[in-house]
Amino acid sequence: MNILLLGSGGREHALAWKMAASPLVDRLYCTPGNAGIAQEAEVVELDIADHQAIVSFCRSNKVDFVVVGPEGPLCAGVVDDLEAAGIKTFGPSKAAAQLEGSKGFTKDICKANNIPTAAYERFSDVAAAKDYVRRQGAPIVIKADGLAAGKGVIVAMTLPEAEAALEMIFGGGVGEAGAEVVVEEFLTGEEVSFFVLCDGENAIPLATAQDHKRVFDGDKGPNTGGMGAYSPAPMMTPELSQRVMDEIVTPTLRAMKAMGAPYKGVLYAGLMLTAQGPKLIEYNVRFGDPECQVLMLRLMSDLVPALMASRDGVLKNFDLRWYPEPALTVVMAAKGYPGSYAKGTVIGGLQEAAQIDGVEIFHAGTKADGEKILANGGRVLNVSAIGKTVAEAQQRAYAAIDKIKWPEGFCRRDIGKRAL
Ligand code: AMP
Repeated sequence: MNILLLGSGGREHALAWKMAASPLVDRLYCTPGNAGIAQEAEVVELDIADHQAIVSFCRSNKVDFVVVGPEGPLCAGVVDDLEAAGIKTFGPSKAAAQLEGSKGFTKDICKANNIPTAAYERFSDVAAAKDYVRRQGAPIVIKADGLAAGKGVIVAMTLPEAEAALEMIFGGGVGEAGAEVVVEEFLTGEEVSFFVLCDGENAIPLATAQDHKRVFDGDKGPNTGGMGAYSPAPMMTPELSQRVMDEIVTPTLRAMKAMGAPYKGVLYAGLMLTAQGPKLIEYNVRFGDPECQVLMLRLMSDLVPALMASRDGVLKNFDLRWYPEPALTVVMAAKGYPGSYAKGTVIGGLQEAAQIDGVEIFHAGTKADGEKILANGGRVLNVSAIGKTVAEAQQRAYAAIDKIKWPEGFCRRDIGKRAL
């Protein structure tokens, strides 16, 4: 079969790498892709926002199946438009993608179905929101309702910070995403991620993984899209996984089906392990990035039938097998990230680095210029490794990083430390 993958990050490189290894795949296309993805797939130039252009491409190239990586196109309804044109597509419909696209939507689902989450109120007016915040007091959490590329959540430790956040969001600071706001209770505890593959009715948990969100060693500095990840996550015990399934995931899937928006695709739950048990912080409607990279390294089964079973609604008796060895990925980012950074700097030593046992280098933001690989984003490389132990995976990933010649890049040096 022929597959088209949508996306251009490290997550999509890992998905492309895994799908390219499937005996079911004849041709693998990707758009917009990057220099690393181009080693696994035929990169084609299409405008992801132009769903009809994607349909035309699929028709002229006999694409049997489309896999959508990022949340943007999912929330824009790319799955609905491709399916309406008769093209099988992996991922949630526009209605189901609201689980990520609207924080208020998800909070209301939680409230109506007794799913544990932070107490909250929704607002579309700055004065009413400020009034509520003053009555509740700090710390408190302010969230733009829509997709805001990681800039829409402010954990305010003081009232002035909370009020400034409301003014920023209602003042247009995150664009349309901020037309509505959720104000919620501040939760304390350990944060963990939980991933399931869903088919509208059934869900199978994926291997566990944990990311490192802060930019600097020791979990210091501002939040980022993720500076590294490891799998498995020792904190996510089988008992805890079962509890999250019973109290959070299963009721969500039941509610989505009941409202006529059955959820298909990967569902990624961000959780806080509070004194009262796990509570939902947020849902994402796709694989985590960089968690996907470590999951793909550990996945023993063919990914393609699993994605198709999700789309076809036949996951019930499906089984996914994982290598027991731990995997780890370290993000190399351009200096300055998550603030402003330079693009176009030259990265050397990638081939030497990739030769280390167990190492796989996924590209997150790169572009080819003849023989040269150039940095083309904030997060640029995901230097990943599998090993007999977390320590071995970590040692291999950092040995590879030490062979990469990119003075304009940086990485955390403590990825995986929490799992050691
Ligand atoms: P979100 O985009 O909703 O995952 O929020 C981004 C980050 O803000 C989360 O990963 C948490 O670290 C933090 N956060 C979000 N909601 C809360 C909350 N209710 N209490 C404490 N921290 C939160």
